[in-house]
Amino acid sequence: MFHVECRGRGKPFKEAASGTQFERMKGMGAMKPLATVASAIHPSATMSLNNLYNEMKASGIDVIGFTCGEPDFPTPDNINMAAIRAITQHQTKYTPAGGTAELKRAVCKRLQEDMGVSYQPNQIVVTSGAKHCLYVALQTLVNDGDEVILPAPYWVSYLELIQMVGGVPVVLHASEAENFKLTPEKLEAAITPKTKCLILNNPSNPTGMVYTKEELQALAEVCVRHDLYILSDEIYYKLVYGDVTFTSVAALGQKVYDHTILVNGVSKSYAMTGWRIGYLAGPANIMKICSSYLSHSTGNPCSISQAASLEALAGPQDTVESMRQEFERRRDYMVKAMNEIKGISCLKPQGAFYVMMNISRLVGKTICGTVIHNADDFADVFLKEGLVCVVPCTSFGDDMFLRWSYATSMDDIVEGVKRLKAMVEGC
Ligand code: PMP
Ligand code: GLU
Repeated sequence: MFHVECRGRGKPFKEAASGTQFERMKGMGAMKPLATVASAIHPSATMSLNNLYNEMKASGIDVIGFTCGEPDFPTPDNINMAAIRAITQHQTKYTPAGGTAELKRAVCKRLQEDMGVSYQPNQIVVTSGAKHCLYVALQTLVNDGDEVILPAPYWVSYLELIQMVGGVPVVLHASEAENFKLTPEKLEAAITPKTKCLILNNPSNPTGMVYTKEELQALAEVCVRHDLYILSDEIYYKLVYGDVTFTSVAALGQKVYDHTILVNGVSKSYAMTGWRIGYLAGPANIMKICSSYLSHSTGNPCSISQAASLEALAGPQDTVESMRQEFERRRDYMVKAMNEIKGISCLKPQGAFYVMMNISRLVGKTICGTVIHNADDFADVFLKEGLVCVVPCTSFGDDMFLRWSYATSMDDIVEGVKRLKAMVEGC
C-alpha cells in the first residue's frame, strides 16, 4: 500500500529533482498533459486589470484606476498595533487550522451583534481570506457534476471557483430592469435533481444591490423546499447606504439557518485586504470538514493576521462607520455625475463600493475611431484614449456594463468622470 502511495506521489518529485532524469525528460518532447480542471482556469480579470493599471502607473503614465475592489484607506491604527503586539509577544507559531479560539469567539459575538444570528465557536472556521472560504466551502459541498446556481451579474471568481471544484455553474441572469436581483420564480425554474446550492452575494459585487428581507425570504423558502444549501457571501454587509438595511439570510429562521453557510471577512469592512483573513459560519458538521480540509492545505491562517482581526472584530467599530460615510459620499457624486453624461447611465447602488455603468446606448457608435460593440471595446478605448482603467463586466456575466469601484479617492473620481464625459461627448 505504502509502495503504491509512493509511486503516485513521492517518487516523481524525487526523480524529477535528479539531474539525469531532468535531462532525459527535456529530451522527450511532449509531456503528459496537465490537470484538465486547473488548466482551464482563467486568471482573475479584476486582479489582472489592477496589475495592468499598476504597471502603467509605475511607468509614469497618467492613468486613473477604478479596477480593484479594495478600500483605499489604511488599516486602522488599533488593528496595526494589535499585530505589532502579536509579533513582540511571539504569537508567531502554528494555531489551530480553523483559527484561534479567541478569534472564533469574536466572530460569534460580531455575528450576534450585527446580524442577530447565534453561532457557537465550533460553527466557525477562519481561513486565509474570504476567497478561500468560498473555495473550501464549495469543496465541502460539491461533488463532480453537481449544479451550483449563480445569479448574474456575478463577481468573477465565483464562476471559476465552482468549476475548480468540479461543479457545473448554472448562471441566472438578472437585468438592470430587475435591479440585478434574482427572483424566486427564476430560481425555482432552474432547479434540477443535480442542484446542490445557491450562491448569494448580498450586498453584491459588482451590482451594489441589496436584497430586502422579504426578497431574501422568498429565495430562501425555495432553497429550503428543495433542500439546497445557501452559500451566502456577506462580506460587504457593513457597507450599505441611505435608509437601506442589511439582513443576513441566516437570520430568517431555523430551517434557513440550517441550510446556510455564511462567508465573511475583514478585508472590506476594516480595510484589511492584504492581511488575508476570512471566516465561515455554518452547521458544525460542515465546519468540521472545512477545518480538516484546511489542515492539509493552508494549515492555519497567519497567526499575526488573526491577532489583528481579533482587534478588528472585538475592538472599537467607529472607523468602519467613518469609512462607510466616505464611501456613501463618493457613491452619490459618481452616480449623479455619470447620469449627466449623454449615452451613459447607472442605477444607484445600495451597498458595497461599485457602480455598474450601462453603455448599451453607445452600441454601434464610434468613439475615438473605435466602433463600440460591447463593454470590452469601451474599456479598451477608455484606457487608450481616456487613460482610465475600469472593469468590463464581460467576465461578470454581462457585456453591456463596466464596473467602477469607488473605493478610491474623491479626486480620482472627479477626474475619472471628467475624462469619461470628455471622451463620450467630445470624441
Ligand atoms: N467575495 C466578494 C464578493 C468579493 O468582492 C471579494 C473581494 N475580493 C471576496 C469575496 C474575497 O475577499 P478576500 O479579499 O477576503 O479574499
Ligand atoms: N473583490 C475585489 C474585486 O472584485 C478584489 C479583487 C479580486 O479578488 O477579485 O475587485
